[in-house]
This record gives sequence, structure tokens and C-alpha cells, in this order.
Amino acid sequence: MSTNTFERLTIPHTLAAGPGPGNTDQRVLEQYARCGVADHMQPDVLRGMVECKFMLRDVFGTDNVHTFGVAGTGWSGLDAMMSAVLPGDTVVAFVNGTFSGIDGLTLRMKAATAEELAADPTNPQPASVTIVEIPHGQSVDAATIEDALSRHKPKWAFMAHWETGSGRINDLGAFSESCERHNAMGLIDAVSSLGVADFSIDDYPGVAAWASCPQKGICCLPLTYAPVSFTDRYIAVLKQTGTRTFVHHPILEARHWGIVDGKDVEKGTYHRTHSAYAVAAFHEALRLTLADTLGARAALYRQHEEVLRTTLEMLGCRVTSNMSSLVVFNLPEAFAGSEMELVQNCRAEGFGIWTTLSEPVQIRIGILNQLNEAAITEILTRFTVALNNIGADVDIDRLKADIASMYQIEAVAV
Ligand SMILES: *Cc1c(COP(=O)(O)O)cnc(C)c1O
Repeated sequence: MSTNTFERLTIPHTLAAGPGPGNTDQRVLEQYARCGVADHMQPDVLRGMVECKFMLRDVFGTDNVHTFGVAGTGWSGLDAMMSAVLPGDTVVAFVNGTFSGIDGLTLRMKAATAEELAADPTNPQPASVTIVEIPHGQSVDAATIEDALSRHKPKWAFMAHWETGSGRINDLGAFSESCERHNAMGLIDAVSSLGVADFSIDDYPGVAAWASCPQKGICCLPLTYAPVSFTDRYIAVLKQTGTRTFVHHPILEARHWGIVDGKDVEKGTYHRTHSAYAVAAFHEALRLTLADTLGARAALYRQHEEVLRTTLEMLGCRVTSNMSSLVVFNLPEAFAGSEMELVQNCRAEGFGIWTTLSEPVQIRIGILNQLNEAAITEILTRFTVALNNIGADVDIDRLKADIASMYQIEAVAV
């Protein structure tokens, strides 16, 4: 009989330079570790949750009362955001990469009738859902959105704000306007953009609900909270039609964050057991985000992404992304087809970059919470050494000098 005893688990530190998770700030980890053991109804835990709720409204840029965190990862928040989508509902979803593809699948599962779901339980094809596929590497643009929404006039429309699979930014303004024009309720996956870009969700009135995640722009990996925000319009529809979930029911779950009958109350009431550690870490991550300001963070991401992209192009790579936290690219012509091998070599040495998760195979390098010259130089150096190891011949000292001079020029320009 096996006894299943193991050594204590040791996980090494890696340089997380992918699309996510980002590097959790040391101050967030300290808050996590310093937190006392307290239950989910202890007054400071409840106060922390209420404070998080108010800070989240600032991070989202919204007056939506139903703004809070869903325990778990990005998909948990997205599941809550899509909870009001019921079997038979009409939906148009724009898909331009891995993540919006999974969002599209979630919507197909929720909108499928019982028969449609039984016909293909993990990949249903409901008649009421239209998936608009946009080729890899392209953004969802105004014309595509307007064409689909004017033709289908769906109850729900969905798009990812930033598609992390291909590193593309989609046209949020056009999406919101088309939703308003055709009376669709917009749903946005803002997992990759919240905390990285400078935007206020109240500027997009066609969008009825938003969902993000803890581990990307918010820099709070210790399994915490996926930020969500719902307009009063969404909540009104949900009140009328209901949803088949208790745990992710936006109205019921909001109660623990001190939101009852559409109003802020002083203290939350039980919905599920919240972790004091998670609340403390999330609270600190939000404090840091607001202290930095979204405007300053967004400018830093742009500045460092520019150095990363320019250097990769200098090395002969072809960059196809336009997000500021992530660069997606092909290797130089001579190394085409070696993307997977190079990424595996890097990962074997604790340098966590990624390929794309769906075809075509490209490399993804992210800079979440790596917003300084030393970090960007290290990422580029380690990448270039890996390129040399598969046959390139780049002078590393020269590369470092080029990066340093780019930062010098920027410093002068500022
Ligand atoms: C990362 C990501 C997700 C999934 O988030 P998890 O935290 O892994 O659950 C969903 N959508 C987008 C756009 C993402 O970038």
C-alpha cells in the first residue's frame, strides 16, 4: 500500500515575463503573510471588503453600485458577468484569440437550450448564439461590430477589451456605441486591460457589465478577487429573469461586500467564506494601484513596451501586437518555426515567456509589474541569449548599450 508522503513542496522563483500572471508586489505578499487568522465575519475583514469595494469603483472609474470582487481568477469573474445569459437568449460574440474564444464557449454553454447542450455538452452550438471570428493578429474593429449588431440585434453582445492570446486591443468605443444603437447589452472581458490602461468604464454606456482578474494589471496573484462591475440596467434584467447560480449570482454575492437592495450598507452579510488573507492582499494591491494612479501606470507600460518592441524589431522579429503590457511576435525569418523550442529552452531556465496557445505559433513576452529599465534589460538580454543559443550571433554588450541609450533618449525627452 502506498503511503503518499512527500517532501515539502518547493517552487523556485521564476522571472514571470508572460501574458500573466504578473509579478505580485512584495508589499502585497507581506500583507498576505502578516494577516492574522480571522473569520469572514470579523469586523476588520468586513471593513476591508467594504473599503475594497470603494477602491474598486475608483479603479474601474464607475458609480455602479454593483462593483465588487468575485473570489477566484479571471474566469470566476467572467462567469459571474455572464450569469444573466439564459438558455435561448440571443448573443453575438466577437472572437479574435484564445481568451475571447473561451468566453464565446462560456456564452454558448449558457445560452444553449437543454437539447442543444446535451447534443455536445462541452462544445454546444446553440442557434441563438452568433460567433464572429476575426483572424488571429487582428483587432475587432468598428465596421465588424456595427455590421454584426445591426444584422442580428442580439440581447447580449460580447467582446474582449484586450485579447491576450494575440496581444490585440479591440475597439471599445465602437462596441459601446453599436450596443447603444441596437439596444444590445454589452459584456466586456477586461481581464488584461484593468490596471494597465487608463480608462473609465462609465464612459462606455453601451456596456452593461465588466469583468477582470486579480493577477494581471492588479498584480495580486495570491488567489484573490476578480473585479466585476454591473450597471443598474444589468441588475434590473437579472432581477426579472434570474440566473441558475447561487455562488456567482451578482445580486446575492454583492451582499457580502455591503451591497443590499442596490444600496451600500455598512457591513456585509454572509454569502460565502472569504479569506482574511485574500482580503488583506487584495486591499493592498488596490491601494498601490490607486497610489500609482492609472494614468501614470498606463504611461509607464507604453514607455517600456516601446523599448521592448523596438529592440525585438532591431533583432529582426516581427511584432504583431498593440497591447502595452505584452508583445507578440515572430522570430526572425532564419529562425521561423523555432518559436516553441526557444520558449521551452527559456522556461527550462526559469525565464517564463510563452508561445501563443492557438495557431499560429508566435512568442509572447509580457511586462506586468516589470516597469523599470533593469527589468526590461534583463528580459531582453535573456531572450537574446536564448536566440544566440539556437544559432543567432548577437553581441550582448552591444544590445545592452542600445537599450541603455534608448532609455537615455527617453529620459531627455521627458
Ligand atoms: C488571463 C485572461 C483570462 C483568464 O483569466 P484567469 O485568471 O486565468 O482565469 C480571460 N480573459 C483574458 C482576456 C485574459 O487575458
